[in-house]
Amino acid sequence: MVQIKQVGVIGAGQMGTGIAHVCALGGYDVLLHDVSRERLDAGMETIKRNLSRQVVRGIIDQAAMDAALGHIKPAAELQSIGKTDLAIEAATEDEEVKKTIFKALQPHLADKTLLASNTSSISITRLASVTDRPERFIGLHFMNPAPLMKLVEIIRGIATDAPTYETAVEFTKSLGKTTANAEDFPAFIVNRILVPMINEAIYTLYEGVGTVEAIDTAMRLGANHPMGPLELGDFIGLDTVLSIMNVLYDGLSDSKYRPCPLLVKYVEAGWLGRKAGRGFYDYRGETPVPTR
Ligand code: NAD
Repeated sequence: MVQIKQVGVIGAGQMGTGIAHVCALGGYDVLLHDVSRERLDAGMETIKRNLSRQVVRGIIDQAAMDAALGHIKPAAELQSIGKTDLAIEAATEDEEVKKTIFKALQPHLADKTLLASNTSSISITRLASVTDRPERFIGLHFMNPAPLMKLVEIIRGIATDAPTYETAVEFTKSLGKTTANAEDFPAFIVNRILVPMINEAIYTLYEGVGTVEAIDTAMRLGANHPMGPLELGDFIGLDTVLSIMNVLYDGLSDSKYRPCPLLVKYVEAGWLGRKAGRGFYDYRGETPVPTR
């Protein structure tokens, strides 16, 4: 097994910041990188805000927050991630973006470095194939928001070796998370089941069966889901939801996974959900207002 001390996180969006937060609280040194300096700075602020929130709620104390912040450093250059013990890629859910990152990282990788992707749906085997170390590449699928959600899905590519898997399991457990193993097929377990449900909710809206409010209320109170499916789609990010549906549709060649045209329209409009200020709800005011 590899001794993990320093973790590199690539992508400082919702997931990258959450993963960096969890790793730093777990006592690991973290280097956080984003292609956009603005996103990197905003990501560091998000981490501070989320840690403060945990202090206010009594989940952690001030000393733990200060220690965690001391563990995280922003990294403007991708190459510095190459020297970490474990590099976790959490960039946009787009296969070409992810492959480009791993190819760019390749010349800077230390021999010891394990590679992981936080992809929600893309083949770990295919991502690993663009690196020189498919046996030391693994899927570590943290859930959103990473600091709160207990599960990490672990996905082995066809070549992932046993020491890498064991290191990944130990590392994940050291963060206080529970693991579930998923085989490397499109969208793994959680999103294979969850995202088609969200897509179906969008079809229900598209076909006029219910309004945004009716659909979310129905699933919250009728199925006892903590969030309605449209609210959840907004929370995940509608670009990510669409991307996952496309991976399912292309990877399983079954028409039941076709993305709803209304989902496509929202993404084309840039109405990507909470992170963009607008999706099935408009978040720009005091309380979210349905956009249909
Ligand atoms: P996001 O849009 O919030 O953040 C993506 C970040 O990646 C952005 O800051 C962007 O600037 C950055 N990025 C894009 N290209 C890059 C590059 N070449 N190099 C470095 N950074 C780059 O997205 P997110 O919700 O954080 O999703 C990130 C990953 O996590 C995706 O693979 C997604 O499927 C997965 N994921 C998302 C969720 C969720 O609920 N949103 C849950 C689990 C996993």
